[in-house]
Amino acid sequence: MGESVSKPVKVARDVWMIPDRCNVYVLKAGKSGLAIDFGSGAWMQCLPALGIERIEQVLLTHHHADQCAGLAGAAEREFMVRSPAGEKPNIDPADLARRIQEWKKLTCAPYFHNAALWQGVPGVVCDLHPDSELWFGPFCLRIVHTPGHGTHACSYVVEAGDRQLCFCGDAAHEGATIWEPYHLEWDHWTGEGALAAWQGIKRLLGIGIDRLLPSHGPLVESAPNKTLRALADKLLNFYHAKGCIAPGEKDHFIAPMQSFGGTRHYLDALYQFGVNGYLLVSKTKEGLVVDPSLADLSFLDNLLKRLGNVRPTAILITHCHADHCDGAANLQAAYQARTYLHPKIAEKIGRPPSGPTPYLPVKPVQADVLLPENGTWTWNEYAFRVAHWPGQTWWHAAYMTTVDRQKVLFGGDSFQPVSRWNGTGGFCANNNSRFREGFIPSARLMLAWQPDILANGHRCVFRFTESRFRQIIDWAYFAERAVLALCPSGDLETDYYKPYHPHERNGVVPKPETAGRLPEHRAEPTGRKTPAPTNKATLASAPKAKGKPRPKKIAKATKAVERVKPKVKPVARHVVSKKKQKKGGGNREQHAGAS
Ligand SMILES: [Zn+2]
Ligand SMILES: [Zn+2]
Repeated sequence: MGESVSKPVKVARDVWMIPDRCNVYVLKAGKSGLAIDFGSGAWMQCLPALGIERIEQVLLTHHHADQCAGLAGAAEREFMVRSPAGEKPNIDPADLARRIQEWKKLTCAPYFHNAALWQGVPGVVCDLHPDSELWFGPFCLRIVHTPGHGTHACSYVVEAGDRQLCFCGDAAHEGATIWEPYHLEWDHWTGEGALAAWQGIKRLLGIGIDRLLPSHGPLVESAPNKTLRALADKLLNFYHAKGCIAPGEKDHFIAPMQSFGGTRHYLDALYQFGVNGYLLVSKTKEGLVVDPSLADLSFLDNLLKRLGNVRPTAILITHCHADHCDGAANLQAAYQARTYLHPKIAEKIGRPPSGPTPYLPVKPVQADVLLPENGTWTWNEYAFRVAHWPGQTWWHAAYMTTVDRQKVLFGGDSFQPVSRWNGTGGFCANNNSRFREGFIPSARLMLAWQPDILANGHRCVFRFTESRFRQIIDWAYFAERAVLALCPSGDLETDYYKPYHPHERNGVVPKPETAGRLPEHRAEPTGRKTPAPTNKATLASAPKAKGKPRPKKIAKATKAVERVKPKVKPVARHVVSKKKQKKGGGNREQHAGAS
């Protein structure tokens, strides 16, 4: 093993904690031992000093790598390894291999987390059912379902002398927190994991516990029930944060003028097709396709047939998720359409997915032109405002233009009507959803831009209302506090984001309040007239970048990426005056000086 081992800490008579990759607890009966969790296994060097000649069995609290990494690959062992019932798909090598094979067939990156042990542990018996017990010498170990770090995680409650001990795995941590709280996010938008964790803590609160013995960090030796009560409250807050982000607001869905064959006609020049796609038609009979997904392309084909003479020449993408961009390559090939990517989105989908961000397209989407991060862009007669618009994911942008005298904002999945997914596309650590740097500045941007129509993903076309976005700002502060309250280190980066996105923080400096103000760079309109549609690219408004290096990742991935040139000065900021916000109506935009 060769790893250095910390000294065992006596917890009760014949019970010790040995620090390893996680806290390993050892119970002794005669010359035999039972261990709760395994870590690296280095702790076994301590056994002779404790008078233990052999380990009989190892009980895992859950399947994470820190609990069982030392067991990987070792088919032959002298002790039995048991885990909570239901963990087999997460721990059995054959099951895991099958799952990885299935993922290889997907067109988008799967949802998974960083703590998985992908080679699995052979020979684990997954037979520990909640609400049952097992005996080891004089110890009766009661199995209590405490999910959170996965759906099947369990705690073991043991009476040792006059003390009742609870080996709670990662269900609770010192300071009423959760070790790596992103594990509570079982999917990318619901609070299901948090609610299950709350139920588990309520179960523990119903049992007289004298000491809480978690998988990580110090033992909770004084007032464990106080810790559990505080934790239950925090878990409920986290669950509420996953709920509606603008309660009481109405959806204000907009009725299409006409619907046909999976397509809805909203404004003279604007169509929505399939689930996520939009087609904006120019006077030149060119089409701009927003968010082409593979699944929606047949609807676009139908629509184009019906329109007769419209040719898609440009592609715009709102965010990195595959269902908003995996059809881009087909349009590029079929119509020589050019893809205009926001730099933040390009950095995520311009290369094959790596790391655990879910739902990315497996095939990279190449940019023909890079848009400014915050600025303007013109496509034919349409002048667009372009902005980084983080919310559901960090790799998200918003584009607003005037269509038939209505300000239409293409917004993807960051915000939705309240009856749809609680008013958002969800937040979670592995989408790198942020609050002060994400939802809050993005909501403020809407208050500044005042669109008439939000043309979002998943067929959500709805009217903008100020009150909704003001509520979202309040919600985002609450949600951030709710996540932070569960972080053992008191730092969101360390406990919540970093395990997923160790590199994303480069150059992103959190600015409390002022993060709501997005600096704006304007692209230079060229004034050139757009030629009639041809097979060749037609965009007059995208001059080649001068003097500014291309982002490396994009430069590698594509041969000729243009960049919509941002002006260095002036840097204008959009600020909504509080008075005007309250009054509502009219154009609320002000331009503050550069800083
Ligand atoms: Zn864990
Ligand atoms: Zn999405």
